[in-house]
Amino acid sequence: MLGKQTSQPVGSSVPGIREQKRLRDKFGRAITDLRISITDRCNYRCVYCRDGETPGYSDMPFADVVRLANLLVSLGIEKIRLTGGEPLLRRDLLELVHALGSLKKEFSPQAEPIDLAMTTNGHLLAPLAQPLREAGLQRITISMDAVDDETVTRITRVPGSLRHVREGIRAAQQAGIEGIKINCVLLRGFNDHEIESFAAFSREHNVIVRFIEFMPLEEGRVWQPEMVVTHDEILARLQKVHAMHPLEPTATGETALRYGFADGIGEIGIIAPVSRPFCGHCSRIRITSDGKLRTCLFSQSDHDLYGVMRRGGTNEELDAYIRKIVHGKEERHHIGEEGFQKPSRSMVHIGG
Ligand code: SAM
Repeated sequence: MLGKQTSQPVGSSVPGIREQKRLRDKFGRAITDLRISITDRCNYRCVYCRDGETPGYSDMPFADVVRLANLLVSLGIEKIRLTGGEPLLRRDLLELVHALGSLKKEFSPQAEPIDLAMTTNGHLLAPLAQPLREAGLQRITISMDAVDDETVTRITRVPGSLRHVREGIRAAQQAGIEGIKINCVLLRGFNDHEIESFAAFSREHNVIVRFIEFMPLEEGRVWQPEMVVTHDEILARLQKVHAMHPLEPTATGETALRYGFADGIGEIGIIAPVSRPFCGHCSRIRITSDGKLRTCLFSQSDHDLYGVMRRGGTNEELDAYIRKIVHGKEERHHIGEEGFQKPSRSMVHIGG
């Protein structure tokens, strides 16, 4: 099932002395993309993610999140995505978005603002969409795993959740947040009957729907190779109903393979880490809600950045620590290989 890994590093051909300051790993991959989990609490218990049995970690305080983000932006981070757990549960969210939204790209001559995005389950989004936009949120991805109420409840284990998510999507559109994407993790036997309905949803609501292959990152023991609905299967199903054509990536290091419809209305993305891994151009690092640095979703250990800060570490010390950890970033994940081990934390405690 495991596909061939791509191995072309991104950004390695960009010349310049300042470029030497840029964070890179030992394979030459430039690290430009940071995911910050701002809490590992969540109001859903999605079957592919969280059973709620593992105790949570404590959230890093506001000032420390902002300090780390500042530091990482000075090392070349250009995109920050706030995630969790459920980021909308964080009380000081608007202040955080405001503080992070004003950071500028270090390596861009025009000092453009960084790209600030969020991934949310959307349950609490309706009243927050407009304030988030005003605070500086540029893009949003909303998780919605089915278009049918019963199937959504079977996955989130929260009755009536689809109504809230749909209200959240509408509010984000009304607030004028651009590039709204809907994430759907496909699980065979749960929601794989909805692939075609999602294509219709994308077209009807003018949103980008992204199907994600199920990865073994859940708290419980649900993942089985047979449950993964692969890229090829998804595309074949869509092509029975629509003439889909591939679209160019919008950014270097983009994880989704994009497909358009003949009339240009709607868009489907397929994120296929299991059948078509994209580790070769991975530009990502993650900070967990308790301030641990992770270099891969599947890392067997994480690195206590917040511990260094709490012990009075200076920015120079943090800089050196981050460089050392990033240098050792894993070459790739090993899903589907013999001896594969689940990571040291599950998705909800890492930040997806
Ligand atoms: N609570 C927010 C949400 O639901 O979008 C943010 C956190 S969630 C961990 C981030 C993303 O990870 C979601 O789109 C979710 O569907 C995805 N995800 C979680 N567990 C996954 C798994 N085992 N395999 C693939 N994607 C997963």
